[in-house]
Amino acid sequence: MSDLYARHKAVLPDWLALYYQDPLEITHGEGRHVWDADGNKYLDFFGGILTTMTAHALPEVTKAVSEQAGRIIHSSTLYLNRPMVELAERIAQLSGIPDARVFFTTSGTEANDTALLLATAHRRSNQILAMRNSYHGRSFSAVGITGNKGWSPTSLSPLQTLYVHGGVRTRGPYAGLPDAEFIAACVEDLRDLLGHVRPPAALIAEPVQGVGGFTIPPDGLYAAFREVLDEHGILWIADEVQTGWGRTGEHFWGWQAHDAAGPPDMLTFAKGIGNGMSIGGVVARAEIMNCLDSNSISTFGGSPVTMAAGLANLAYLLEHDLQGNARRVGGLLIERLRAIAAQVDGVREVRGRGLMIGVELVKPGTDEAHPEGAAAVLEAAREEGLLIGKGGGHDTSVLRIAPPLSLTVAEAEEGAAILDRALRCTR
Ligand code: PLP
Repeated sequence: MSDLYARHKAVLPDWLALYYQDPLEITHGEGRHVWDADGNKYLDFFGGILTTMTAHALPEVTKAVSEQAGRIIHSSTLYLNRPMVELAERIAQLSGIPDARVFFTTSGTEANDTALLLATAHRRSNQILAMRNSYHGRSFSAVGITGNKGWSPTSLSPLQTLYVHGGVRTRGPYAGLPDAEFIAACVEDLRDLLGHVRPPAALIAEPVQGVGGFTIPPDGLYAAFREVLDEHGILWIADEVQTGWGRTGEHFWGWQAHDAAGPPDMLTFAKGIGNGMSIGGVVARAEIMNCLDSNSISTFGGSPVTMAAGLANLAYLLEHDLQGNARRVGGLLIERLRAIAAQVDGVREVRGRGLMIGVELVKPGTDEAHPEGAAAVLEAAREEGLLIGKGGGHDTSVLRIAPPLSLTVAEAEEGAAILDRALRCTR
């Protein structure tokens, strides 16, 4: 047991930092790599936790942060600061939401909380629609709308949540249906549900479910939902915490895969925009955002240092077309992983969009989820210098691959070769 781990056990929750049997202490990073306290180098196929969007220790971001910190770290959210307004301008333009207003928070959880606050205030209802198998954060209300109960430690919530089918396609009542039939079944389900309740304030949904195992609904599902929501005056909130900023390759936002639905009423973001600095936020149409009053502040939301990081990071992402890179390199990696999976018993599906790739494991020769297999692959990959994530339902049997969007083809090949060997340990 390392000295740090022993000290951790004395002061931190037992459930923290237990991703690996031997907890990992990261000391520094560069590009797509990080190093641990023993000097071991790892290819980071999880981009921190989808937080390192461009690259570790990106000089442009480091420079912007240190220059801003040299001027002032934090003034007060009661005042304006230039980086905050400039980043809000950029995000409002990119959001696709008409008359968009941006409010900054410090995390995805707080962003979703704010969106729920806005929706419930705007629609005067505390009922929310959420997707089965979803994840929206750690606060009391975010946990309350999280459909993936493995990540939702309490069933008590200040909100009344109604869960909607459509998140998972490989399991459940509509598994295996062709896209159009799957969408029709989910829409019928939604209509049926809405026939029995007073109108909820909003539907919140991840365009591709993240923690739930990178599950991808058929394109157009939310366009079909949108028609029904509009009939009932229900808002649509896209939780883009994992899917934003080009990660899915084809689109800058995940909602754009459902384009016929038009932009959502609100979108929430976090994770990658600060390249590891704590930025979250909500984009909403002005009439919705302005439901709140001047007492609605976030002490650290919009802090100049984080905003400077966001501006530099976003500029780099756009200038270097990292969305295009995610599409190209992600496409190659998905193909490579599918070829590997075809040789290995126990991979149910390799699915992905851009650099958001899930490898769902089952016990060899069965259709049963294989959480022990996923844990073993993580350990084996770490041994060979590769960090990946895991997720899924209660069973966490999906390997999650989400490297920084600057991943090179050579690095994709290197990671795939390690995964090829690591996957064989599930047999
Ligand atoms: N929403 C989604 C889709 C997420 O994946 C997460 C975190 O993983 C959150 C919200 C919560 O974000 P945070 O951990 O920054 O509070």
